[in-house]
Amino acid sequence: MRTPLIAGNWKMNGSAALVEEFGHAFAEARLPASLDVAVLPPFPYLDAARRAFEGTPLRLGAQTLNPLHSGAHTGEVSGRMLREFGVEYALAGHSERRQLYREGDEAVLDRLLAALNVGITPILCVGETLEERDAGQTMDVVLRQVGYVMARLEPDQRSRVVIAYEPVWAIGTGRTATPQQAQEVMAGIRQYQAGFDRELAAGLRLLYGGSMNASNAAELLAQPDIDGGLVGGASLKVDDFLAICQSAG
Ligand code: PEP
Repeated sequence: MRTPLIAGNWKMNGSAALVEEFGHAFAEARLPASLDVAVLPPFPYLDAARRAFEGTPLRLGAQTLNPLHSGAHTGEVSGRMLREFGVEYALAGHSERRQLYREGDEAVLDRLLAALNVGITPILCVGETLEERDAGQTMDVVLRQVGYVMARLEPDQRSRVVIAYEPVWAIGTGRTATPQQAQEVMAGIRQYQAGFDRELAAGLRLLYGGSMNASNAAELLAQPDIDGGLVGGASLKVDDFLAICQSAG
C-alpha cells in the first residue's frame, strides 16, 4: 500500500561526473517495480542531474529551501526555483540544518510549508541525540518534532509529508540503529499519528536514515514500519546506492 522511497542525500558532496555516472547506471538498472528513488544533489548540479536522469527512475530532490519565493536573501534558493528544475522532494529539518544552521521547529515548519506550497513533497527529518537516547527521551524528542509540524498542517497537507527517522548518533558515524531500535521508534511515530487519523497514519511513508548501507539495508527495510531510507554516505557510490534500492523490493 505504501510505495517505498529511497532518497540519496549527497550533502555538500558529488560532482558533475558523479551525476553522469548515476544517470548511466540507473538508465540500465533493474529496480523493484514499486519503488520511488530520488537523489538530492547540491544545488549547482540540479540542472545537469535533471538532464542526466531523464528516462531513468531517478527523481530529483533538494536538501533545503528558503521559505520565501524571492527577495533580498543572498545565497538562498526558493521552492519556486527548485520546482523550475524539476525538484520533487525536499528535506526539512535535517539534523545538520538543525544543529549547524540553528533551524528550530518553526524554521523547519516554514520550509516544509514552502515545499508543499509549490508542489514539492517534503521529507521531515526527526531524531534524537545520543544524550537524549541515553536519558530515555527518544520518543519524547521524536514525537515533539513530528507533532510540532503535523499539528500545524491541514489534513490534505499532512498526507503529503514523508517522515524520516534519523537518530543523530547514527548519521555519518557508521553506527546504525538496529532494525529493532528503528522499528520501535517508527512504529511509535505511526501510532502517534493514528491517534489523530488512522487512515493517514496507515498511508504515512516513514524512512529510516543513519548509516544505511548495502549490507544493512535489507534488514532495516524488512521492518513493518520502515518504508524506505534516507541515505547519506552510501548514496555517493552508485553501486551501493543501487544495491540499497534493489533491497527495497
Ligand atoms: C543523512 O545525511 O541523512 C544520512 C542518513 O547520512 P548517513 O547515511 O551518511 O548516515
